[in-house]
Amino acid sequence: MSRIKIFDTTLRDGEQSPGVNLNQLEKLEIAKQLERFGVDRMEAGFPASSKGDFQAVKAIADTIKNTSVTALARTVKSDVDTAWEALKGAEHPSIHLFLATSPIHMTYKLKKTPEQVMNTAVEMVTYAKTKFHNVQWSAEDASRSDLDFLAQIIERVINAGATVINLPDTVGYTTPAEYGRMFQYIKETVPNIDQAHLSCHCHNDLGMAVANSLAAVENGATQIEGTINGIGERAGNASLEEIAVALKVRSDFYPYTTGLQLEETKRTSDLVAKLTGMYVQANKAVVGRNAFAHESGIHQDGVLKHASTYEIMTPEMVGVKANNLVLGKHSGRHAFKDKVKELGMELSEEKLKSAFDAFKQLTDHKKEVTDDDLFTILMEVQTDTTSVNKYQLEMFQVQYGTANIPTAAVVLQTPDGRTVQTACTGQGSVEAVYRTLDELISENLKLIDYQLSSVGGGKDALAESHVQLEVNGQAVNGRGTAQDVIEASANAFLNAVNRYIVRQHSQESNVVASKT
Ligand SMILES: [Zn+2]
Repeated sequence: MSRIKIFDTTLRDGEQSPGVNLNQLEKLEIAKQLERFGVDRMEAGFPASSKGDFQAVKAIADTIKNTSVTALARTVKSDVDTAWEALKGAEHPSIHLFLATSPIHMTYKLKKTPEQVMNTAVEMVTYAKTKFHNVQWSAEDASRSDLDFLAQIIERVINAGATVINLPDTVGYTTPAEYGRMFQYIKETVPNIDQAHLSCHCHNDLGMAVANSLAAVENGATQIEGTINGIGERAGNASLEEIAVALKVRSDFYPYTTGLQLEETKRTSDLVAKLTGMYVQANKAVVGRNAFAHESGIHQDGVLKHASTYEIMTPEMVGVKANNLVLGKHSGRHAFKDKVKELGMELSEEKLKSAFDAFKQLTDHKKEVTDDDLFTILMEVQTDTTSVNKYQLEMFQVQYGTANIPTAAVVLQTPDGRTVQTACTGQGSVEAVYRTLDELISENLKLIDYQLSSVGGGKDALAESHVQLEVNGQAVNGRGTAQDVIEASANAFLNAVNRYIVRQHSQESNVVASKT
């Protein structure tokens, strides 16, 4: 069995999903969970793209110990320098340089000849090597590149010191057989290929990202790149949890192992879904709500007689547990602390206190507090940024019924400390609240998407709302939780606006787009 390295890019490629905007504390929580999940490398961001991204990468590099932390950089000296500044505190720093090699990208995007591209790649890998021991170079749009040219440039960047060669299917265009052949060709043609790891990176535009990744591994790739839940631009990236479980369940066919702790799969998936607001569909392989549900009578009968009749894997294998009652009204601080630890979270004393207060408040209305509830509360507290003045909801009231016009009154504290209030009507209760908030907030707001779900089951379940707003023309997501659906909706709306404000604060943008 040979060991395949898992390279997670949830925080870089995944974070490029439309509307996803994680704050630094949220990125840190995901990074810590990725470390627990056992990924070999995590791409923490693109430090040269913005001040906020730089700070997040640095915070992750300074925190994570057991996983190599990497960052994306264009083949530009200043990008390499900025990446080094962000990563130099890491236990195992590495850099990820990318440059396009396909005729279409070289001609129209880079406006460079193949010769110029080759020289730039070699020059920048050589430069990066003066700072980083591990240098990954990606041939952007590799799957649409000329194979001979690809082989030549790979040989030269390996000579320049590249330790990983990544061949992305940037536009999600390739097929398993074709992608596999590319790896086989490179493996057979490039004379010094045994001095570097070969890596695959697939996008899911045609729904083949996972299949393409497995084909690459069968043909010599020793590193797989992807994201949790397959999030990413357009149709997303290869789903790492699907790849991991496929390798495990079909170990009879795939003689490869990974360092992943599969029982952390569900928790990792849940955390990414919650913090990004990108929920997985019920029928998603491995992590969907229905992934282990056997509905038909014949199947249920079979599973009861012998599990393996219809069950190729167990929920326990990926850490899916029944939602058990954990704490109640009479649970004290000590039991609470123990449970936080059991959930794998570390909170400062101050945050632990606010989380305990929120928990106590919840038990006033909800008899049984489940793992999911607790996780939701803890995440709210853990990822709340308090450094910037924001909008705060002081009070709201909604009059709603089938016989009258929904009317909302809201009292709000503005970032500059004023208290403002007004009332508006709407076609429904949520609209009334949103129109009132819109009236009180000076930013230009447009609601793009609105979702409401319950945390766990039961009539007294917590409500969780996700919204996507356009704030002054920029897409931003917001998340809110409360016992009441309208309050959760109001919280999500304000959360999105506040994220925009925090982002404006932390990010004098020299934003550049990154794609590999
Ligand atoms: Zn990508």
